[in-house]
Amino acid sequence: MSISQNLLKIKSTLPENVTLVAVSKTKPIPDLMEAYDAGQRIFGENKIQEMADKWEAMPKDIEWHMIGHVQTNKVKFMAQFVSLIHGVDSLKLLEEINKQAKKNNRIIDCLLQIYIAEEETKFGLDEEELNEILASATFQEMKNIRIVGLMGMATFTDNQEQIKKEFTHLKSIFDSIQNLKSEICNLKSLSMGMSGDYQLAIECGSTMVRIGSSIFGGR
Ligand SMILES: *Cc1c(COP(=O)(O)O)cnc(C)c1O
Repeated sequence: MSISQNLLKIKSTLPENVTLVAVSKTKPIPDLMEAYDAGQRIFGENKIQEMADKWEAMPKDIEWHMIGHVQTNKVKFMAQFVSLIHGVDSLKLLEEINKQAKKNNRIIDCLLQIYIAEEETKFGLDEEELNEILASATFQEMKNIRIVGLMGMATFTDNQEQIKKEFTHLKSIFDSIQNLKSEICNLKSLSMGMSGDYQLAIECGSTMVRIGSSIFGGR
């Protein structure tokens, strides 16, 4: 099937409250344009330079989501245009995003990444670190970021029970902080689920799925 057919098929199965991020990392612009022409406006990339190049070349009504691990010294290259940063996993990174957002006279939406997998390779905060950030004075004084939810990645495994356990854990953390409503905290998005596990993620409460290979083909 073509990219547009894949996209429309997946979209037709998603509940109304679930946002689709089309993960276009490593794919050439004509592939992204095919998805764009089929109506897709949210794209996810995991390298800042690649995302910036695509942003420059493509229509300006696209929302660009940074889904990869972010190095502090590279925030400045996306601060002008990024719509949502999924993988925020430290106060230091938040401070830099806040600083660069201020320079660009804007507020940047962020998700805090929670570590839910059993693999050592995945980034993210544990529950204690999350609560430390949310309670810290430094965080509460930031004016140019907004935390709009949480993001997580399950273990890469065929064990559905394991994945379900991890997604359910993330959802319970998400629910546990719902009482935190302020200028800089409005926790409405739960970003979990990729090509292999998005249906399960939605069953577990995901409101945002990040799908790459099922739309654009393997990488
Ligand atoms: C690559 C990537 C995805 C998409 O993965 P697919 O299996 O191709 O759907 C989702 N989330 C993150 C963080 C990624 O890096």
